[in-house]
Amino acid sequence: EENNYTHFIKQIVEKDMESGAYDTIVTRFPPEPNGYLHIGHAKSIVLNFELADEFGGKTNLRFDDTNPLKEDKEYVESIKRDIEWLGYDPEAVRFASDYFDEMYNQAVSLIKRGLAYVEDLSQEEVRKLRGTLTEPGKESPSRERSVEENLDLFERMKNGEFGDGEKTLRARIDMSSPNMNLRDPVLYRISHTEHHNTGNKWCIYPMYSFAHPLEDAIEGVTHSLCTLEFEDQRPLYDWVIANAELDAEPKQIEFARLNLTNTVMSKRKLKQLVDENYVDGWDDPRMPTISGLRRRGFTPESIKQFCREIGVSKADNLVDVRMLEHFLREDLKLEAPRTMAVLDPIKVIITNYPEDGLEWLPADINPENESMGMREIPFSREIYIEREDFMEDPPKKYFRLFPDNEVRIKHAYFIHCHDYKKDENGQITELYCTYDPETKSGSGFTGRKVKGTLHYVEASQAVPAEFRLYDSLIDDEAEGDNFLDFVNGESLTVKHGFVEPNMKDVKANDKFQFFRHGYFSVDPEEATDEKLVFNRIVELKSSFKL
Ligand code: ATP
Ligand code: MG
Ligand code: MG
Repeated sequence: EENNYTHFIKQIVEKDMESGAYDTIVTRFPPEPNGYLHIGHAKSIVLNFELADEFGGKTNLRFDDTNPLKEDKEYVESIKRDIEWLGYDPEAVRFASDYFDEMYNQAVSLIKRGLAYVEDLSQEEVRKLRGTLTEPGKESPSRERSVEENLDLFERMKNGEFGDGEKTLRARIDMSSPNMNLRDPVLYRISHTEHHNTGNKWCIYPMYSFAHPLEDAIEGVTHSLCTLEFEDQRPLYDWVIANAELDAEPKQIEFARLNLTNTVMSKRKLKQLVDENYVDGWDDPRMPTISGLRRRGFTPESIKQFCREIGVSKADNLVDVRMLEHFLREDLKLEAPRTMAVLDPIKVIITNYPEDGLEWLPADINPENESMGMREIPFSREIYIEREDFMEDPPKKYFRLFPDNEVRIKHAYFIHCHDYKKDENGQITELYCTYDPETKSGSGFTGRKVKGTLHYVEASQAVPAEFRLYDSLIDDEAEGDNFLDFVNGESLTVKHGFVEPNMKDVKANDKFQFFRHGYFSVDPEEATDEKLVFNRIVELKSSFKL
């Protein structure tokens, strides 16, 4: 895929290549396996993979699994699957935990050079000494320990002689630095927790801000792209790189996170929606996860094109979720077969059509792409139309069917409504119409005009189907942690209707444009031989303009 988009990070890389600062580029995508990937991660994936690719470089997938409490193998597998589905192939798949030995050795080396010490003050006490933005911190008494004592204590930390929180390893940097992150940050903490990868081998774990630069350097990463909230950490990143005994010199570059309207985008919050059953799982089609978008019917190309178009900058912004929908329509409009589905059926009886008659009418598969050819659809005495396409007592400018009105049935004939039947609840159950054989579609009939065109499905051959229509999961006023108060209780509407007979053999994830209703995809989980289930991906039109 050609990527013609430029942005400030690409310009930095261009300069670095020209100046010879690096002779190849290596990037990484570093998710923490504590949840499923979401559309925000897609922005980072597209950026990292396509940037490296453009300069002939490579991208690793690296699981940042330094926090054993929240991590899980299920998440690791889902992340691999999602990246592959998007169409990227990592140069290597690594785990931060692969480097725990190396990280430990680097910490020992810092201790030996007087650059790190074991702290026995509690977290609370350490916080008190840290100072504030306007007030320098105070040095802890632990800072003056000898190298020998630090080496001994650190080894005993590793050997499990202390409980969680009893000791930490801190960098010896500068307690009066204006950057709080440099006031002797913690490098290692004790946590007697089993790790999904290393089991019970370790009871001390490196902090993210120590581990991350080391992981980058070990892998020979040249440009370490992260989101803006790490900007204040960059001096610490640089300190670790400068003091580690590793050759590579990666540089950290920050860019703005993707924020989307009507969307929460944090694994923690998405996990809450799953755990508290607001949705049916991480791949619920309403979720902004890659797996949710996939199940809903979004294509990899629509997601990638969206990520390219939103651009990469240093300024936080909020992107309209309709922009993502726009790229789905763009991607499918020439490829998705057109077909007719009646979502909320009402039966029409064509009283002057032969009792046992059935004919097959030609219909184009995609009028915007003639190469897709034609299909045949049945027509007979009984057809279904949408309930909303008939009104007993229509307002002005209602051009669909009503008593004594005539409309066109798409691909078929004009029909004229003469009568209708209601049940005891006043619900209309059947319409009685006649058709005019002279008005057959394609016959060139010009005798008279009608204003409305209705889609239909012939009754005897109709295939029953369930349709799932989605609305935003989150109302647009939601902000911060109160998002659960803004969950839309009507984000899912289920309809039962019919599709054309040639839809009988559809497969999971097949995508269609249903006349007037929008783009739909066959649900891969719940569609069975007896029951087709379609997810609406997006509606046909939107007021959104690029
Ligand atoms: P979350 O809050 O969703 O857990 P995170 O940043 O903690 O987000 P990570 O697993 O650490 O999630 O993210 C992996 C990579 O994806 C990081 O480089 C991170 O900066 C990037 N990323 C995460 N969310 C976004 C986003 N909304 N926009 C762009 N990049 C993102
Ligand atoms: Mg993170
Ligand atoms: Mg996180």
